[in-house]
Amino acid sequence: MRYAIYLTVLACGAILNSMQIDRAVAWGDEGHQIVALVAQSFLDADVQKRVNALLAADTDSLTAHDIASAATWADKYRDANMSNSRERTRQWHFVDIEISAPSLDDACFNHPPIPGGTTASDGPAADCVVDKIQQFAAELADPGTDAEERVVALKFLLHFVGDVHQPLHSSDDHDRGGNDKRVSATGLSAGNLHHFWDTEFVNQLGPDARTIASDLIGHITKEQQAKWQSGGPVDWAKEAFATSKDDSYGQLPEPNARGSFRLTDDYVTTATNDVTLQLSKAGVRLAMVLNQALRKP
Ligand SMILES: [Zn+2]
Repeated sequence: MRYAIYLTVLACGAILNSMQIDRAVAWGDEGHQIVALVAQSFLDADVQKRVNALLAADTDSLTAHDIASAATWADKYRDANMSNSRERTRQWHFVDIEISAPSLDDACFNHPPIPGGTTASDGPAADCVVDKIQQFAAELADPGTDAEERVVALKFLLHFVGDVHQPLHSSDDHDRGGNDKRVSATGLSAGNLHHFWDTEFVNQLGPDARTIASDLIGHITKEQQAKWQSGGPVDWAKEAFATSKDDSYGQLPEPNARGSFRLTDDYVTTATNDVTLQLSKAGVRLAMVLNQALRKP
């Protein structure tokens, strides 16, 4: 039954993808669940309790209230188009740093401030994932933030720290982050490049987010954890951009006569390794963000 649901979800994803009705879906649900589950294992015990309590108090019904499901909420909220949520939040999921002329400030619409007296979740539609992570982390840490906004801030953070680590959410080659490039590979159904990095390469790791997360957690060394827990969303976006420049775009073969790209087995292997590393880093860094925001002094 679960497998049938999984296949249905995949099929829906493929249909949506082929219709190209939206830009970036970001890591598919599985990627976001993995990031949240990895993060959970690196939370301080008291922070984990606070996260669970915040999610348990959530009255929203778009997702279940466990940490893995809540990490997919921002996509569901955008797609549900509640109170114009599609247009209001669509651009918050990425930072389109151009490969040909990289500028974080341009990709962040020059960092518009949140108007006084409003919250980060009411902030300008033209803003980037880097700014939104900083804004929501500040709200989560601020004891003056109202209860409803606090839960929303947590759910956006659970999702956006994942998004900024998806290389094609932190880069663009005038192709809507790979959405306009048609690709295929042996054993994978044809789609666009963005979708491959959101979903297909994550699927290479297996069908179950929990199993994958425990495997990743088991392979993260103390040294890696310490090294990854440095910098902030600006650095993470630049790092994901570098991965994209080197691999997501850099390793693309020449297009065929119809303009589509046939990915080699080497490309798929490199991409799957990149995805494994990015999901692991995202999990460790999400834990760091939550620990910093919710740790009692
Ligand atoms: Zn997203």
